[in-house]
Amino acid sequence: MKIILKNKRDDSLRRHHPWLFSGAIHKIEGQPQAGETVDIHAANGDWLARGAWSPHSQIRARVWTFAPDEAIDEAFLQRRLRAALALREQLLERTSACRLVNSESDGLPGLIIDRYDDFAVCQFTSCGVELWREAIIRQLTSLAPFTGVYERSDGKSREKEGLPLRSGALAGAAPPDLVAVREDDSHFYVDIKNGHKTGFYLDQRDNRTALMPYCEGAEVLNCFSYTGGFAIAALRAGAKSIINVDTSQAALDLAARNAELNGFAGASMDNIAGDVFKVLRQMREQKRQFDVIILDPPKFAEAAAQVKAAARGYKDINILAMQLLRPGGRLFTFSCSGHVSQPLFQKIVADAALDAGRDVYIIKHLAQAEDHPILTSFPEGWYLKGLICKVM
Ligand code: SAH
Repeated sequence: MKIILKNKRDDSLRRHHPWLFSGAIHKIEGQPQAGETVDIHAANGDWLARGAWSPHSQIRARVWTFAPDEAIDEAFLQRRLRAALALREQLLERTSACRLVNSESDGLPGLIIDRYDDFAVCQFTSCGVELWREAIIRQLTSLAPFTGVYERSDGKSREKEGLPLRSGALAGAAPPDLVAVREDDSHFYVDIKNGHKTGFYLDQRDNRTALMPYCEGAEVLNCFSYTGGFAIAALRAGAKSIINVDTSQAALDLAARNAELNGFAGASMDNIAGDVFKVLRQMREQKRQFDVIILDPPKFAEAAAQVKAAARGYKDINILAMQLLRPGGRLFTFSCSGHVSQPLFQKIVADAALDAGRDVYIIKHLAQAEDHPILTSFPEGWYLKGLICKVM
């Protein structure tokens, strides 16, 4: 199967960017099926790459390899999986929860594999990895012994590829309702079967650590808390009190259990089930004050068309949080929307500071943890941006 590009549409593939958009295609020779391997050629005939065909997505092919002699077979998948696991070896000494395979950034477009203690959780989000699913599971289980491998291919990205949503046990034992993982000195329960994404926000690992130096004796407000990852870090660092806010009661219940698991059953931790936008406004009316506030909202922009509305949302919560901080307080503010760039996010925070009437210093820039690496040829891989701000 052969794909020939339009004239002058070969730049990004020559720079090893792994996506081929439908608009760049001049001609398709043969009738590639979903996930099938295709060879991609420039208009002048040059061979550029070999990738997996996605007939329903705007990203019509995702590149497996830029090496002309490399065949796409089970041995190829084994090599890529082995390299991805090797990259995390050191990290796995400090944690039993880690992203083992991060899609394009590990040369396996559409494949996410997270490890939670003895269990692996997989997401197959492209036609290519869907076609090779059995081989991937076989190679994964032969490279690393897991008690069980579970599938959570139930995210929105499958729909863009025209794939049905699916979850369930793939190999070995089904996971228990909660799996306990360790991260440095902290422990967390993860709900593999029903939690968000594959169960836990592994990408915030380093930022949980970054929070700790600011928490001793502090009153901390943890917005969009999920199961309390930042809350446990704050308590471990000696926070005086912590309030978690999330719309999900199930997530808050698990945050309470995580506090117990870490020996903080008696600590001052309150859970508020509610909308952060409303809760922050109420707190402002009540003239509440905090020393540290964390804002880690869900992806506000799912597509480029939503960036403007997303920016308004980010600005609103940042204004409110700045107004709730005591002078000199710290704001940990994040955006995980890939469509909101770092410079745009920083501008939104700057606009929020103006509207809040506060002088704000950026103390540190934050990003996703090292098991979510960013390939230089695939800058889209940098999706999590954060700022530690000192709010005067
Ligand atoms: N900070 C968390 C991850 C946050 S994910 C961690 O480190 O683990 C985003 C969370 O925001 C989800 O738990 C979701 O339930 C919650 N959420 C989404 N919209 C919300 C809203 N408007 N108000 C409160 N919580 C919301």
